Amino acid sequence: MSEDIKSIHEFDLSLLAEYFSNLERQGPGSPEITLKALSFVENLNKDSKIADIGCGSGGQTMVLSQHVEGQVTGVDLFPIFIDLFNKNAAKLKLDHRVKGLVGSMDNLSFRDEELDVIWSEGAIYNIGFERGLKEWKRFLKKGGYIAVSEATWFTDERPAEIEEFWQDAYPGIDTIANKLGQMQKAGYVPVACFILPENCWIEHFYAPQVELDKRFLKENKGNKAVEEFIANQRHEAQLYHKYKEYYGYVFFIGKKM
Ligand code: SAM
Repeated sequence: MSEDIKSIHEFDLSLLAEYFSNLERQGPGSPEITLKALSFVENLNKDSKIADIGCGSGGQTMVLSQHVEGQVTGVDLFPIFIDLFNKNAAKLKLDHRVKGLVGSMDNLSFRDEELDVIWSEGAIYNIGFERGLKEWKRFLKKGGYIAVSEATWFTDERPAEIEEFWQDAYPGIDTIANKLGQMQKAGYVPVACFILPENCWIEHFYAPQVELDKRFLKENKGNKAVEEFIANQRHEAQLYHKYKEYYGYVFFIGKKM
């Protein structure tokens, strides 16, 4: 990872990647929500080029690819996720048009105006919402779409405990209105935005971690880094349950002017 990109926590990154490689997806979301976001994207056909940035093992990319005809490229920093991504694409017989590449979102190798759609679920925070929107724009054709989900405040004010947690984890978190303003300022027309329902966190993200935590702790008995990592994961889940009326993920869909 380039030096100016900070991860959401300061844990050992390979531990994080190993843990999350056991899950179908690495962030909150669901197939229904991926398709809802896709419903705002127009004019796709078999010649369309789509990139999924920070694709992880490709849970959402595979859903997307089963509902669009074009070429889909997933990009992620971790080879462990890209290996799984390419295996998933092959299993679904999508590998002739869906490919995963190892790369960093601050150094993408697409050509200017090559892409029809830039997709990114729960990953743009690694570069920052505003910076990602601005830097990735040149890869999009005029009239192309960007669709990203991002941690967002639902209210102007919130309890100190959750405010402090997020200021430490991702100071770029902001309100829906401010994020839409940032999108417009970056040169996109905001086409739609919607809040991801709670089941994207509770059922699709936190529930599969319960069994995995037990197994991971057993397999890494006595490993302090693993114990600390799991404790932090649990703390994050508890905070979500306590404060979910104040924040969540929002999908933002914009069209390049
Ligand atoms: N989009 C997937 C999903 O929704 O399941 C993964 C979301 S996960 C919260 C964030 C992803 O961003 C991880 O897969 C991580 O490896 C990837 N990532 C982190 N820093 C990155 C970077 N600099 N370039 C590309 N991907 C990065």
